[in-house]
Amino acid sequence: DFFSRLEYVSQVVDYDNNVMNNMKAVQAKIEQSKSQIEATQKDLETNKTDLEDQQQQLQSALDEKQATLDSLNDDKVALELLAQQQQEQQDSIVAMLQANADAQTQEKQRLAAEQAAAEEAARLEAEKEAEAKAQQANTANAESSSSETGGNGGSNSNAGGSGEAGNTENSGSNNGESSNSENSGSNGGGSSSGGGSNTAGTADPADGRARSDGYWNTWPGIGSGVLGWPLDGGGWHYVLSSLYGMRFHPILQEWRSHNGIDILANYGDAIYAAQGGTVVTANTDGWGSGYGNYVVIDHGNGLSTLYGHMSSVAVSAGDTVYQGQVIGYVGTTGMSTGPHLHFEVYYYGVLQDPENYL
Ligand SMILES: [Zn+2]
Repeated sequence: DFFSRLEYVSQVVDYDNNVMNNMKAVQAKIEQSKSQIEATQKDLETNKTDLEDQQQQLQSALDEKQATLDSLNDDKVALELLAQQQQEQQDSIVAMLQANADAQTQEKQRLAAEQAAAEEAARLEAEKEAEAKAQQANTANAESSSSETGGNGGSNSNAGGSGEAGNTENSGSNNGESSNSENSGSNGGGSSSGGGSNTAGTADPADGRARSDGYWNTWPGIGSGVLGWPLDGGGWHYVLSSLYGMRFHPILQEWRSHNGIDILANYGDAIYAAQGGTVVTANTDGWGSGYGNYVVIDHGNGLSTLYGHMSSVAVSAGDTVYQGQVIGYVGTTGMSTGPHLHFEVYYYGVLQDPENYL
């Protein structure tokens, strides 16, 4: 039994040894698994950390992108603002250029109008000159035919024939012989021949000297008499075709001031110095800015006289003349429609109504 028991023990020991060995193997396996698990866990943790890093990187990239987007947005707004400002600037420049162009156009138009006006004025001046020249030639040619120029005809009859006729008529009625009842009635009792003649044939009760032919009667003594008449009256009176002052100009066809009186006369009649003095101007160029051939005499004491539209001039500048001296002859030179004397009076350079001095 001992042996059997021993064998049994040996068997048990073997068995134990086996168990121990098995346990050891299991344990080693467990150890191995554990370390494997630990390694895996480490790997996982590493992975996790990596992932977290990656996520962080992505987040920051995202943030960066957002920031860029924001900044781009800002840029876009700024650019739009800039574009708007530039547009406004451009608009204002365009407006300024337009205004400049308009101003230039207006200036051009103004200059063109000015030039046109100047050309028109020059043309009118030339026309006037040509007309005056033609008139002058006409009158010179038709010196004998008084019917061609109305003014001349009127002057002829009034200074000469008609004046005499008027006197005859009046003296007849004043005398009362072969009594014409109408005339004696109109002249009134005791009226002098001069007074009667002043109203004869007039239609204007205002001054009693306007004539039915549109001219005016005037006579020595109508003014102060300081100046002598520059023409022979040929009778009791003179005839004015234009008074001093505003009138409708027969050539220029406009209202303008007439600087003197127009005394009707025959072409070639002598013109006399109205007072003694010194000739300051003796123009013989035929135009004389419209006065034609004309003479100016300085009488001293501020008084001077001008004689226009002469056919010819008989004195020179600087000549001393006496009252009544012939200084030229009646014509129609310059701006004139027929033979007459245009007579001006100045007192210290200021125009006067000549009739106040005659
Ligand atoms: Zn005149």
